[in-house]
Amino acid sequence: MKTRILVVDDEVQLQPLMQQRFRHKIRAGEYEFRFAVSGHDALESIREDADIDVVLLDINMPDISGLALLAQLPDLLPLSRTVMVSAYGDLNNIRVAMNRGAFDFVMKPINFQDLEVTIDKTARHVSQLRESVHAKAVAELKARFFDNITHEFRTPLSLILAPVDTLLQNPQHDNRTRHSLLTIRRNGRQLLHLINQLLDLAKLEAGSLPVIESRGDVILFVAQVVDSFRVIADQKELALLFSSDTAGLEALFDGDKWEKILKNLLSNAIKFTSAGGRVSVSCQVQEDRVTLTISDTGIGIPAEHLPHIFDRFYQVDTSLTRAYEGSGIGLALANELTRQLGGTVLVESVPAVGTTFTVELPVHSIPEAARVEEQQPVSADAEPWLFTRGQAEADEADATKPLILLVEDNAELLAFIAESLAGTYRVLTATNGREALDIAQRELPDVVVSDVMMPELDGYQLTRHLKNNPTTDHICVVLLTARSAATSRREGLAEGADDYLTKPFDLDELRLRLRNLISHQEKLREHYARQVGSLAPTNGTDEAPPATVQDAFLTKLNQIIEVHLDDSNFRAESMADEVAMSIRTLTRKLTMLAGISPARLIRTYRLRRAIDLLRQGHPVSETAYMVGFENPSYFTRAFKEIYQQTPSEYLMAGNRWP
Ligand code: ADP
Repeated sequence: MKTRILVVDDEVQLQPLMQQRFRHKIRAGEYEFRFAVSGHDALESIREDADIDVVLLDINMPDISGLALLAQLPDLLPLSRTVMVSAYGDLNNIRVAMNRGAFDFVMKPINFQDLEVTIDKTARHVSQLRESVHAKAVAELKARFFDNITHEFRTPLSLILAPVDTLLQNPQHDNRTRHSLLTIRRNGRQLLHLINQLLDLAKLEAGSLPVIESRGDVILFVAQVVDSFRVIADQKELALLFSSDTAGLEALFDGDKWEKILKNLLSNAIKFTSAGGRVSVSCQVQEDRVTLTISDTGIGIPAEHLPHIFDRFYQVDTSLTRAYEGSGIGLALANELTRQLGGTVLVESVPAVGTTFTVELPVHSIPEAARVEEQQPVSADAEPWLFTRGQAEADEADATKPLILLVEDNAELLAFIAESLAGTYRVLTATNGREALDIAQRELPDVVVSDVMMPELDGYQLTRHLKNNPTTDHICVVLLTARSAATSRREGLAEGADDYLTKPFDLDELRLRLRNLISHQEKLREHYARQVGSLAPTNGTDEAPPATVQDAFLTKLNQIIEVHLDDSNFRAESMADEVAMSIRTLTRKLTMLAGISPARLIRTYRLRRAIDLLRQGHPVSETAYMVGFENPSYFTRAFKEIYQQTPSEYLMAGNRWP
């Protein structure tokens, strides 16, 4: 390989000397010299032809000093390196030059043997530098190409999937058409998932897949991901087990990446295990690390393949007739995501016995007062290899839409209903009654739409649990069932279900019923809000508030406040304790029932009772204490803020009992 050397020195006699000393190298095509006798000369030469590997630069030159020229070289020749040439003993200048980025230096009078070694060393460095820059450019180019091409795939795929989804919303299709549409959708989604994985890999490689941590319960999160495979495991007749040595662990972690890693390992475990087998996931927490073990009793991986299974596109069975679908991307992605998060993946496997993947991932403790978003709960996927979040969850952001919980053990049907409702409502999904009950208690949806025949807890039992629990008893329940017999209908209504639809049901009918239920709820809410929230002094016939509030729950709350009426320490939290709910649950329930917060309910009640007491002739300051205001002037302010007059003004206006 040829090294191109630019010698910059005002000593002209150096030129023949160099050519003489290095004549063999020049003749062999290893060195090529160019000479410049001043700084200006050098700049011109570089401008003419920048193909230079090594610059030999004299420090002492009349026009531009070597140090000044050196400062310009990184811009002009970013991929070349400079060796300074200076008089013996000029250590100060040499130090400055080295600090400014010179690669090396030689002393005058020149020792040519030493110079040759220095030139070769510099040339080697330059060539390595160029190789790495080139490799990086190629990687970037590849990543960009990957990015572009994946987008090119994604757009038409979305344009296939969107109309299929719309077609599927039409309940009029016969079974064959519906089946074909579902097949198109399933395969389209699978393809989309593959493309998304490729895109993730490309992004990881280009370093453009950032770690985004948010707060959540790691154990619960993992349990939910495992649960999303329940349907597919049941279909394959596999036992799917989950265990953890810790009940819960609140922490900061990148849920999206955890989900991708787990889903890839779990879908493999299920894919490579046949009916009657077992797939188990366990969580172990040690300080700030979580160890996830995913074991199966499947076909196993022969020892000679184990070192390669994390390679991209690697598959143990590459025969055309292979029994398992796949692309060989999943494990590579899981491995690289784990590495990015600072974790490790290990695999142990015995053919025909089973495989165990052990993933160790770090979690970070939540800093005090951290205000980070909660991890979104994962939904049960129709197909475990379909990890893209559906429209239903995307809409969760719009908190003003009513919240519907759909419970259905047929994953395909669940996805179909969820998607059809997603535009109008926020939709949560569950695949069995037990899961539904958990979600309902946590999220307090406006309506639960539930299948009747389900594993774990059936629709009737679910209804009974919801309607007999004071936290959830206000939630409307719509039951869906294949049984059309009047007895089962009565059964459902007896448990307190609010409405009932027989399968195969008409989607429009479900929509209509939901709309009616929700508008009914809204009317009730407005009604109660008027009753509870109304502060305007009414004419003399006004009664104490509890009598006018029909809803049992609100009556109960009013009774509780009445008992604590003169207790100024009685707050929203105390009220939540009294009804055995968390403050979050109480707030949500009360807001849904009457559009009012617990604190405001207490305050409103106190002020309304104050009116009663004032009318009965109690003096203002006494009334203030009797309704739990520690400070009469604060009472007067609060009173005026809402009634636009002070208590005395109110009395003067002739509002006393006759
Ligand atoms: P894919 O599953 O799409 O082929 P992966 O990267 O997920 O690609 O897996 C690579 C290969 O590793 C699989 O093709 C399979 O041969 C093997 N493999 C992965 N997980 C298991 C498992 N749990 N049991 C048996 N073989 C497995």
